[in-house]
Amino acid sequence: MFPFSFTRAADEQSALAAGRSGARYIAGGTTLVDLMRETVERPDAVVDINALPYRDIDLQAGRLRIGSLVRMSDLAAHPGVRREFPVIAQALELSASAQLRNMASIGGNLMQRPRCLYFRDVSAACNRRNPGSGCAAVGGVNRLHAILGTSDHCVATHPSDLAVALVALDAVVITRDGGGDRRIPAGQFFRQPGTTPDVEHDLRAGELIVAVEVPAGPEMRRSGYLKVRDRQSYEFALASAAVALGLTAGTVTAARVAVGGVATVPWRLTAVEQAVIGRPVSPALWATAAAHAADGAKPLSGNGFKVELVRRTVERQLATVAAMP
Ligand SMILES: Cc1cc2nc3c(=O)[nH]c(=O)nc-3n(C[C@H](O)[C@H](O)[C@H](O)COP(=O)(O)OP(=O)(O)OC[C@H]3O[C@@H](n4cnc5c(N)ncnc54)[C@H](O)[C@@H]3O)c2cc1C
Repeated sequence: MFPFSFTRAADEQSALAAGRSGARYIAGGTTLVDLMRETVERPDAVVDINALPYRDIDLQAGRLRIGSLVRMSDLAAHPGVRREFPVIAQALELSASAQLRNMASIGGNLMQRPRCLYFRDVSAACNRRNPGSGCAAVGGVNRLHAILGTSDHCVATHPSDLAVALVALDAVVITRDGGGDRRIPAGQFFRQPGTTPDVEHDLRAGELIVAVEVPAGPEMRRSGYLKVRDRQSYEFALASAAVALGLTAGTVTAARVAVGGVATVPWRLTAVEQAVIGRPVSPALWATAAAHAADGAKPLSGNGFKVELVRRTVERQLATVAAMP
């Protein structure tokens, strides 16, 4: 580990001042500390933001507002969230481990970095960690990597389960710096790698995530998250699907579908949504719609199985959510 300074911000102003001077924010520390130990990240200064007042879960008729320092376990256990947004609670409960969820914050979850082994191995070529060095995963062991949203420069998947649910639900990330607040749709917050995979999100240097807002809607109650992985706990997704459906008299009136584990960012499936809206529910409909789940996929040498896996994951989750009482 390299030397660094550690301070605790007493309030927002001092946190933002430290951020402007180049300090890295730390909340639960479950990602940043690992990366610093592995020397993937080498900040000179780290500032603890846990004293900031971003710990509320505020559920109102029109929306859910989640403070960025809310712990994953607290959000998953919130009775209103479990009732009104089951997909959020399920995505969280299928993430990491109970101990990690007790420490880890919502803001840190969105800002977590790829689990690509080459990104985390400082001796390997990685354009994200070291721009211009190449991508060892493209011609290497890439079974866990992305088939959607990739470029020649990077094929790492986005690791957050919660982010998949938030993108499906049209959540908004609220950020703050000296210049005021910004509201960034979750679907635009995460950046596909393109030629600059080191630019992972829309947050500016020193900017804080204050909260995440999720709009309420009748279809949010009929929602859920399916995560397919190599083992049933404590593992990242091979493929996952966040689905919310509005049904009226057996016809689909609203649909929200996003997938994880297969793309470089949480991946919204508008083609699947369009294929089900306005149609009567049936097993055949889920299969026809889910056939679009891998549209545009570019499999690598080791992950061609994800094309069929993501289709089946979406089909199964459409059927499961449609059958909810
Ligand atoms: C073994 C293991 C398994 C895991 N499995 C899963 C999984 O299955 N699914 C999943 O989704 N996640 C998984 N995770 C990731 C876990 O969810 C994250 O580590 C956690 O959510 C990060 O939150 P944190 O508060 O600890 O972040 P920190 O480590 O404190 O910070 C992470 C990053 O976010 C930045 N940051 C934190 N808060 C803010 C803020 N308010 N504003 C701006 N920047 C901020 C920090 O500067 C840092 O860059 C796993 C992690 C581990 C270690």
